[in-house]
Amino acid sequence: MEESTAPQSKKGAKKAEAKAKKEALKAQRAAELAAAAAGANGNLEDDPAKDNYGNSQTTTPGFSQDAEEVEIRSLDESYNGKTVVVRAWLQKSRIQSAKMGFVELRKGGNWTIQGVVMASEQEPVVSRRMVKWVAGINPESYVVVEAKVTKPLEPVKSCRVSGLELHITKCFVLAPAPTMLGLTLGAASQPIVNFSDEGARLADADTEKAAEPTAEAAVPAASMLTHLDNIAMHKRAPVQQAIADIRVEVKKLFRSYLEARRFKEFEPPCLIGAASEGGANVFRLAYFGQEAFLAQSPQFYKQFEIAGGRERVFSIGPVFRAENSNTPRHMTEFTGLDLEMEIKHSYTEVLDTLEGVLLSIFRGLQERCAEEIDTVRAVYPSEPLLLPEPGKEVRLTFAEAQKLLREEGPAEFANVRDDEDMSTPQEKALGEVVRAKYKTDFYVIDKFPETARPFYAKIDDAGTTVGDGVRVTNAFDFFIRGQEVLSGGQRIHDPVELEERIRAKGVDPKSAGIKEYLTTFQQVGVPPHGGGGIGLDRVVAWFLALPSVHLAAYYPRTPKRLLP
Ligand code: ATP
Repeated sequence: MEESTAPQSKKGAKKAEAKAKKEALKAQRAAELAAAAAGANGNLEDDPAKDNYGNSQTTTPGFSQDAEEVEIRSLDESYNGKTVVVRAWLQKSRIQSAKMGFVELRKGGNWTIQGVVMASEQEPVVSRRMVKWVAGINPESYVVVEAKVTKPLEPVKSCRVSGLELHITKCFVLAPAPTMLGLTLGAASQPIVNFSDEGARLADADTEKAAEPTAEAAVPAASMLTHLDNIAMHKRAPVQQAIADIRVEVKKLFRSYLEARRFKEFEPPCLIGAASEGGANVFRLAYFGQEAFLAQSPQFYKQFEIAGGRERVFSIGPVFRAENSNTPRHMTEFTGLDLEMEIKHSYTEVLDTLEGVLLSIFRGLQERCAEEIDTVRAVYPSEPLLLPEPGKEVRLTFAEAQKLLREEGPAEFANVRDDEDMSTPQEKALGEVVRAKYKTDFYVIDKFPETARPFYAKIDDAGTTVGDGVRVTNAFDFFIRGQEVLSGGQRIHDPVELEERIRAKGVDPKSAGIKEYLTTFQQVGVPPHGGGGIGLDRVVAWFLALPSVHLAAYYPRTPKRLLP
């Protein structure tokens, strides 16, 4: 992605935060003034409109019989002239004169419509007091209104439903918001410029990079910390609603692509009895006098399903990593989209399936979520993800990728080796070289050296070696915009070969978890198989070129953050 934005210093981030607070205070004062003006209503008994407004304890205060309950998103020309009931958040209010006020109502993500409240002595009566009261409602209160749908003289540019407005004749607050919001919708809708979990402290070089504002904004932005401390407002921001809707769609597309190809869903356990895939990165917890662990991946369980005759399986679920990685790419809990399948002739069947599912997700999102993508881009500008033309997918071997980096990448990578894993900066640099050369942001790197893969990775049958005689594996990673989103490959299904590789990697085949894993392959004949694991959060984040994966998660978990 082009990074066309000016960097912001730590001091700048702090200043923006202070400005946001000042802005909120100003809004509070304005709301208090409006409330005081409206609150001078004292005894309402003499107000002819007294039954048409107020705070309501019931969800259905009295409405006209002919008024239809309608969602803002459903309002179209056919409603012109009709009386409707709308439930929504009041996001803005403004008094125009003693007789007239305006509000903005929002529901369904970012569907907004203007409401007009105008004093009228004729039925339905709207008093001046009612006008003041409605215009004084605190932003983000949940209201229900009865209104006549009308065409405005001019389109209301500030609202998504611009060709219609609501002439409010009844308005009840079902759930009032406080006069002062910890985070206004305006601030929550600005790009987040600081993802640190510790106030203005920036955790590492990656976080520094993320701390760049996208545009000069009228409303100051808030930090991720402020967003998470005001979780409801964070979520109410249309950009977060759009990201959440895109995330839902990714899961649907993953599931539907695989189900159409005879894959069956299953649920691997999160609680496991052994830190089978490497002890260091695993969360430990007390378990009835013993120790339990949180699963770092469903890997072994996917393979048990294959051993158990399920042929083609997938799972969607939480994965836990006890890594103290404070970067925009890492979380301690994320959602894995995993699959495993029998192989008939070649591990490229697995590669084809994984490439197919990801391309179908990306193309599906571009087709089904165009509006949501635009909403996100308005806040976090990015170029559309460049996809390969059908039949022109880019698959490089690890050695080819390193050669490309040596020859066409930045000078600092002129000596990268074919038998050593890539660093994150190398991956990003390669992403740019591949984009320029092959016109795609999505590509595969295959045949990783055995030194860079776990013991269960199948060694290449042809005996290919790289560097100082290091064998390569039938294992691959997938990248978008130079960032890894998937790891996969063929697994060893022969128990003798598996035991030999377990030992070669310095793991004890009799250790807890490994023993049960190996035994499964000894107990029955397990067909050749392979699969892969996709990080859902990273797919969403890098598809949209968001500055941090934390924006794609509902409740990001990091080494320093477990709440909310
Ligand atoms: P990395 O090297 O970036 O830490 P990894 O090689 O440990 O990732 P895998 O164990 O291969 O990742 O996990 C499969 C996929 O899960 C990754 O391609 C990525 O999309 C996602 N993933 C892995 N670790 C994390 C994490 N800490 N936070 C979010 N997503 C992750």
